[in-house]
Amino acid sequence: MDTATGGEGGQARQPGSQTALRTLNVQRVIGTLTTAGACTQAELARHTGLSRATVSSIVRSMLDRGIVTTSPTTSSGRRALLVRLEDRGIVPVGVDLGRTHVRVCLATLGYEMIAERSIALRSERRPREGIDAAVGLLADLLAETSVPRSAVVGVGVGIPGPIDNRSGLVLEGPLWPEWEDLDPQQALEEALGVPVFLDNDANLGALAEVTWGPHSSADNLVFLKLGSGIGCGLIVGGQPYHGHLGIAGEIGHSPISDTGPLCRCGNRGCLEMAASTSTMIDLLDRGRGPRMTTDDIVRQALAGDTATLRVIEDAGVATGRALASVVNLINPEIVVVGGPLAVLDQILLAPIQRGLLRYAVAIAGQTTRVAVSSLGDRAEVLGAAALVLRHPVLG
Ligand SMILES: [Zn+2]
Repeated sequence: MDTATGGEGGQARQPGSQTALRTLNVQRVIGTLTTAGACTQAELARHTGLSRATVSSIVRSMLDRGIVTTSPTTSSGRRALLVRLEDRGIVPVGVDLGRTHVRVCLATLGYEMIAERSIALRSERRPREGIDAAVGLLADLLAETSVPRSAVVGVGVGIPGPIDNRSGLVLEGPLWPEWEDLDPQQALEEALGVPVFLDNDANLGALAEVTWGPHSSADNLVFLKLGSGIGCGLIVGGQPYHGHLGIAGEIGHSPISDTGPLCRCGNRGCLEMAASTSTMIDLLDRGRGPRMTTDDIVRQALAGDTATLRVIEDAGVATGRALASVVNLINPEIVVVGGPLAVLDQILLAPIQRGLLRYAVAIAGQTTRVAVSSLGDRAEVLGAAALVLRHPVLG
C-alpha cells in the first residue's frame, strides 16, 4: 500500500496493476455479499465471474481480517461454506475538513452510515484546528458506537484545495496559503495510527455520488460544489479524474469576464468572483448587524426576497456558463450540484440550466441532466469514506 503520498490522483499513487486488480476483485466480492447477502464460495464465483481459486483466496484473507464470517452449509447435496459480511469488522472513516467546519463519519463496507458528527470551527484558515477536531470527533464516535479502534481500516480526508500529486501536499500558491507547511496526511496518520488518504472535497463529492448516491450508473458525472469556494469533481469513463497534477476541476477560477473583479488567484473575472456564497454575501449584506451567513441567503431566497433571488439568478447563469465548457469537453450524463445552496433546488438549478443551455453546444446542453445532490452537506464526508475502499486496505 502506498501511504507515502496522499490522494489517488497521480502516477506516484497508482498501486501496481496486480494490487489494483486484487483490490477490484475484493470490491466485487464485497459488492456481491452486500447486495445478495450470505453466499457460498461457488455462488460468489458465479456472481463475480472470478475463478473459485481467486474467490477462495480472497475469502481466506477477509476471514483473517474479520471482514467476513463463514459457517458450514450444504449446496446441491455437497458440503459448502456460507460466507457472510461482518459489517462492523472493518470500518472506513470519512473526514471532511472544511474551512469553517469538520465532519466525521463511520461507514460500513456496504455504504451505510454507522454514525456521523460535525462541528463548526471558531475561525477560517486554521487547518491545524480542524485536524485536531477530527481526531477528537473520531474518538467520540468510536466510543459511542462501541466500534473498536482496530476496526478502522483507514481514514479518507477531504480538504478544500487540490492535492499536488507530486508531493501529496496541498498545491502551493496564493489560493490556499493556510495549508502551506502542513502535511495533513502525516499529521492524521501520526494521530490515528491508520492509513490516511487525501483528496479534494469536490472530487470526493463526485465519488460519493457514484458510490453512495443515486448515480452509480453514471460513467461521466460532474459534481459542482458551490460554496465560499467553487470547485468541481469529475468522474470520467467511470473513474475519478484528477488530471496531470491534481488540479482538474478548478472551475471556480474559470474566467467568465475579462473585466470582472480581481480574484484571489491573481486573475480577473473568475467564476468564484461572480457566484461564490462569499460574493453573494458581499452583495447582499447591508452591514446593519452581524455579517450575513449562507443560511440567511437560503432563508431570504425561500421568502422570495427580490434582491436575493436576483443575486442567485446572476450567480446561477454565470455558473451555467462556466459549466458549458466542462459539458462541451467531457459530455457528462449529469451535473450534480452540491454545497449549502443545494437546498434551494429549482431556485438555484433553473438559472444554472439557463446558463448551460445558452453557452453549451446545443445537443450537449439539452441532454445533460442538472440535479441537486440528494446527499446534502454529507456528500464530501461520504466520498471520503468511499476513498478508503478504493485502496488495497481490505486484503
Ligand atoms: Zn480566480
